[in-house]
Amino acid sequence: MKYLGLEGKVVLVTGGNRGIGAAIVSLLEELGTQVAYTYRNDPNIESGALAIPADVTDSAAMAAVAETVEEKLGPIYGVVANAGITRDNFFPKITIDDWDAVIETNLKGIYNTLIPIIPKMYERREGSVVCVSSISGERGNIGQTNYAASKAGAIGLTKSLALEGARYGVRANAVAPGFIETDMTRAIPDKVKEKIVAEIPFRRFGKPEEVAWAVVFLLSPVASSYVTGTVLQVNGAHNT
Ligand code: NAP
Repeated sequence: MKYLGLEGKVVLVTGGNRGIGAAIVSLLEELGTQVAYTYRNDPNIESGALAIPADVTDSAAMAAVAETVEEKLGPIYGVVANAGITRDNFFPKITIDDWDAVIETNLKGIYNTLIPIIPKMYERREGSVVCVSSISGERGNIGQTNYAASKAGAIGLTKSLALEGARYGVRANAVAPGFIETDMTRAIPDKVKEKIVAEIPFRRFGKPEEVAWAVVFLLSPVASSYVTGTVLQVNGAHNT
């Protein structure tokens, strides 16, 4: 599918070994993109993409990731900041460790991922960044004060980056998935799931592939060349 303009471009996806990240990696590979992804524990053995072990909370490791990708694949055109975790609880029960882990991973992890790459994108006058936020970051969610704060932060970061990057031709956008079928939502008890599904006008959770297509649209220099600073919802009208 040459018309998306991603063929041959180099794209880095954090947390690309499973869930939404793995779906993004797989779709990009189908589109002929040169993909690299990070993982912490188990690489996705089905993927032919360049797999690099790295924790997004480790700034030195993420600087090394950027170097490795450019050395092995070439100049990075796109970054998908996807790695994320939850440590859900009602606010009074959120420990400082739960708070820190979520903010460190979901928000500082984006900083660590982008800081070695953005200056190079500015020099090259080309690039597209996609941050994976969440419906929780847009409207809050019970039991997710830490997660919602991190995901709202990701939106603020993305919008500011879009404003700063515009003069260099570098775009930044976010996707805000609703509830998607991955390990992250598999832990939700069935009864709670039923209640959530009843609130979603589409009456089902989304699939990782459905988020991947939104990300690919935002990465594409053809399909979204004038789209920057936006938040694309992928949620079956859950937030409408
Ligand atoms: P998932 O299946 O739990 O996968 C999370 C991914 O993030 C894994 O690849 C994991 O790597 C990686 N990761 C976590 N902490 C990391 C760290 N410190 N350093 C590097 N990688 C790390 O979750 P998912 O549902 O695909 O979520 C992907 C993104 O979408 C997250 O940002 C999440 O917040 C967001 N999101 C998900 C939903 C949903 O309903 N599923 C909704 C809205 C937004 P390991 O395998 O090494 O743990």
